[in-house]
Amino acid sequence: MPACQNCGYTWKRKETTLKMLTFKSSYRCPNCLQKQYLSAETRKRSSLYSLPFFLIIPFLAAFNIHFSVTLVIAVVYLVFYISYLPFTIKLSNENEPLW
Ligand SMILES: [Zn+2]
Repeated sequence: MPACQNCGYTWKRKETTLKMLTFKSSYRCPNCLQKQYLSAETRKRSSLYSLPFFLIIPFLAAFNIHFSVTLVIAVVYLVFYISYLPFTIKLSNENEPLW
């Protein structure tokens, strides 16, 4: 779970998941209310993990897999992605550049 780089508070899974689903660039620490940013490493890794989600639909459509099967696979991947995401997050006090 991510820890605030200002006060060291470890965010709870529910807090982290709800904040990540807002897709904001910064998040307030629930303990000290200081702005926290996703580290550059976290942003790179999460975009890498989300890539298969966007590849599943055209890949399965190319093999004439029924859309309902494709949709179920995509939803299952999305649920696993959202469940796993809080464990990969590292926070930063500054908005680090990607390069
Ligand atoms: Zn804090």
